Amino acid sequence: MPDAGDHPSRLTRPTSADLVIVGAGLGALRTAEAARRAGFSGSILVIGRESHPPYNRPPLSKTALISELTSADLAFPLRSAVDDVEWMLSTAIDRADLAQARVTTSGDQSIHYDHLVIATGRTPRRLPSSVAPDRRHVVYTIEDAQRLRRSTSAGERVAIIGGGFIGCEVAASLRARGCAVTLVCSGDVPLERTLGRRLAEALVDRHRLEGVVIESRSRVLELVDRVDGVAMSLEDGRTLVVDAVVEALGSVPAADWLADGDVVVEAGVATDPWLRARKASGGVWSNVHVVGDVAQVPHPLSDQASIVLPHWSTPVDTARVVGAAVAASARGERVSALPAFSALPTFWTDQYDLHMLSYGMPATADNHELIAGSYGSECVVGYSRQGRLIGVVGVGMRSSVMALRDRIGQAI
Ligand SMILES: Cc1cc2nc3c(=O)[nH]c(=O)nc-3n(C[C@H](O)[C@H](O)[C@H](O)COP(=O)(O)OP(=O)(O)OC[C@H]3O[C@@H](n4cnc5c(N)ncnc54)[C@H](O)[C@@H]3O)c2cc1C
Repeated sequence: MPDAGDHPSRLTRPTSADLVIVGAGLGALRTAEAARRAGFSGSILVIGRESHPPYNRPPLSKTALISELTSADLAFPLRSAVDDVEWMLSTAIDRADLAQARVTTSGDQSIHYDHLVIATGRTPRRLPSSVAPDRRHVVYTIEDAQRLRRSTSAGERVAIIGGGFIGCEVAASLRARGCAVTLVCSGDVPLERTLGRRLAEALVDRHRLEGVVIESRSRVLELVDRVDGVAMSLEDGRTLVVDAVVEALGSVPAADWLADGDVVVEAGVATDPWLRARKASGGVWSNVHVVGDVAQVPHPLSDQASIVLPHWSTPVDTARVVGAAVAASARGERVSALPAFSALPTFWTDQYDLHMLSYGMPATADNHELIAGSYGSECVVGYSRQGRLIGVVGVGMRSSVMALRDRIGQAI
């Protein structure tokens, strides 16, 4: 089996492949593996903008901000099943002509496919600003994490704009390094929408205890470079001056390259239950599938409403469905005879010594209740919508979380 270091050296310039996967992250890797596992024997070409073979992103907002890590430290092992996959790294796809079954690189190279998989993930949202890059950060790639770690040190004032999971994790990691951290969020309590009020408040109490200053109900209007730091103008008229800013404002689908294609792009690239890309003109592209964070998929737990699930399990679970679909379709079989996508979504987050694990869709709940333990300590919270249990989040208490996960899973 080759190691990750073998990948970049196998750069090629093919002009066609039976299966072209755009985006070289976790979703792309798992799709290639799943297609081979399902018996797909055609050529596979993976094209990715980053220079690295697929690597694991969750540590980027956690351990990679505390100690120096490289993409090799985070690289996924490459199984022998994908030995014959061709990789075009450091290559962005600029546009696609789905009617002609062709994608084109930013270097104007045209590549023809029989099957296309869209696996381009998401792009972090940014504020419009001309602040110097060493004072203004996002955390999406290994280079982002390395740059943020190297350009901040103990005692420096860092503002994190955005109170989602990545913002909260970055806050915890930078506090561990002794930075003076302010978390700015527009809502009442960071993570309230996903976790519900009580659990989110308990988490915020912990951040305060660790020394994070929380500026809730605050919007940043402008960022300006000054000699004494970055000046952040807030909606309430105040100005905060910090040494660096981290923008953790959520993300948009990395789908600009599909702008000329006949596809539906909303919160993600919309698919049918078998993850085939929907046409804006109606119907689906039978030879174009979508995996991972970029996909907007119908799901039984959301009553088939189409949603984006930007968590680590999604590329893995969607790749399984798409690998099987590509293999079946190459054999001339009907894809809709295969099981549709229905995997139970899951995510975790690590902040300080807290490990939080979720199953289902707590963010779509209309009610939640404490099931075990107590807020502020280890606990399990159940989430329901119209009286139906649809999600669970646990801080610790893994076996209780798993019992509820099984209940939710059985009902799908
Ligand atoms: C900082 C961070 C922390 C996270 N922590 C957690 C966590 O604790 N728990 C959890 O469950 N999930 C977490 N996640 C989410 C998880 O990492 C993602 O769900 C997962 O990486 C998605 O995989 P993907 O393959 O769909 O997309 P990605 O990993 O985003 O890969 C997509 C790739 O496509 C490339 N690409 C984009 N556009 C083009 C183009 N036009 N041409 C060529 N290539 C292109 C991108 O450069 C990228 O390399 C975290 C994510 C981040 C960023």
